Amino acid sequence: MEVCTKCANPKIIIKRKQSGQALCKNCFIENIQKKAIKTIKKENLIDKGDKILVALSGGKDSVATLDILNTFKERNIIDLCAVTVDEGIANYREDGIAIARKHTKRLGIEHKVVSFKDSFDTDLDEIMKVPNHRISCSYCGVFRRWIINRAARDFEADKIATGHNLDDEVQAILMNYLEGNIDNLKVIGAKTQSKSPLFRSKIKPLREIPEKEIGLYTIAKDLEIHLAGCPYAQKSFRGEISEIIKNLSKNHPTIMYSTLRGFDKIKIGLKKEYSNDFQFDSCIKCGEPSSNEICRVCTFLDELGKKVAIE
Ligand code: SF4
Ligand code: ZN
Repeated sequence: MEVCTKCANPKIIIKRKQSGQALCKNCFIENIQKKAIKTIKKENLIDKGDKILVALSGGKDSVATLDILNTFKERNIIDLCAVTVDEGIANYREDGIAIARKHTKRLGIEHKVVSFKDSFDTDLDEIMKVPNHRISCSYCGVFRRWIINRAARDFEADKIATGHNLDDEVQAILMNYLEGNIDNLKVIGAKTQSKSPLFRSKIKPLREIPEKEIGLYTIAKDLEIHLAGCPYAQKSFRGEISEIIKNLSKNHPTIMYSTLRGFDKIKIGLKKEYSNDFQFDSCIKCGEPSSNEICRVCTFLDELGKKVAIE
């Protein structure tokens, strides 16, 4: 009978194909936390005294990020706060917000919900009714980043933690490589910094943990998560890449790790060769950092006949 490789407990919850390791619930939880801590240390993601804002959607990745970073808060290494973005997607986002509220309340973490409606005088449901609109995820990604960065400044947070997992990172590497998008490729990493003082750096503590294991972590720790899928999610290039990686992983279980490790080595040269010559200035409309005169948020809002609705 298979037992836990660490403690010989006969009740195992995972058997890792890539290493043959079998783990019971407690050893698995400890192992995932250690993996995240290893990434945090190796990549220097946290400094003592940091205030970190978690971008908390209520989904498994952001809830696991909050849970793991909370172990640092409990040891008085960092302070935590959280923001949830309400895109205005009826019958979908409400549950995620409620779950985010429960977790932050339970852990005593400052939390606010910021909506597209309050920020831009429109929401995703409305935008999707506008003729010739762009694809939903384009608005979502651009608007959400704008809100989260501003929230980080409002909270006086030093960094923003996101729940990006190993699958997300490998998908981004392959997508941008296949599209020849070097500008995007060179900013993929555990920590994203910008020359603009208006931007807060972003950290990804779960970057080396596969999506499936993050799901299992939330189950093992009995953490409530938002499971529903977004009604606007559609077949995307990222989805196609994800399928390819999943299929490859069946016979090559270490392929995601090797892609990430290989990329992290190449990235050092990539950064040198293609130095970041973006000049950040402020958007003339909203004042947020932008490499163009008008930022992407204001460009999208212009198209929709709207403008930023908050100071
Ligand atoms: Fe936004 Fe839905 Fe796209 Fe996610 S899937 S970015 S919530 S529109
Ligand atoms: Zn702008």
